[in-house]
Amino acid sequence: MLAWFSGHPQPFKTPPAEQARGLEGRLFLAVHRTGKHIVCELGPASGQKAEPGVQDSEAAGQWIVHLGMTGRLLVTTPEAPLAPHTHARLGLASGKELRFVDPRRFGRLEFRNLESTAGFSSPGLEPLTVGAEAFATLFRGRKSTIKAALLNQSLLAGVGNIYADEGLFRAGIRPTRRCVRLTRAEFERLRLALRKVMQHAIRLGGSSVSDYVDAEGVRGFFQLEHCVYLRTGEPCRVCGAPIRRLLIVGRGTHYCPQCQK
Ligand SMILES: [Zn+2]
Repeated sequence: MLAWFSGHPQPFKTPPAEQARGLEGRLFLAVHRTGKHIVCELGPASGQKAEPGVQDSEAAGQWIVHLGMTGRLLVTTPEAPLAPHTHARLGLASGKELRFVDPRRFGRLEFRNLESTAGFSSPGLEPLTVGAEAFATLFRGRKSTIKAALLNQSLLAGVGNIYADEGLFRAGIRPTRRCVRLTRAEFERLRLALRKVMQHAIRLGGSSVSDYVDAEGVRGFFQLEHCVYLRTGEPCRVCGAPIRRLLIVGRGTHYCPQCQK
């Protein structure tokens, strides 16, 4: 692949020239999500022989994309008009182009050479795959509110403010409840609700990747039909009670005073 990076310094955790060197000629072996990061596993650079004993399919580098608030990865064609705030363009062997667009520039791009650095991993457990027992163990006994604990990235990785509010609503749990007071059944409802909300959001986000032209870079985000998030004063979709808002660890928190106990 061929790489180009904008001159804005903010999005680059690794200097752009170093990222370009790291990416050019490499193969994407796999792409996966870890918390709020998209991790692209890269094969050895073409023409560069894999170390003896190292399998060809083993990643030699990682390109790590933290989407931040408004960052998007888009797959498009090289001729497609360039959206404002495009910070990186990768020409792919397929003839398509992968672009990183981020209007607010809270996203970060990083390259890691795995011969000299450790691979990326997120400290928290993955909410989409965590089991019932592990989930309850994470939170059980904590004195903090369940909302604060959900946002704690060292417990669960990648649960943002929207997912936390929407998950708690679907589980019928009030965000101000202390973890220590939650029952086993409530933890399980919450685990399943979070998984549902996140799977739904990922599906919607995924569906707008290929039609970026009219996208502001936040399209998938707004397609999610929120039940409580940013609906302060509006009627609950289930019971009609006005949605309330308060602050927990400085974050706007939205809930239904009737459906959430
Ligand atoms: Zn309600």
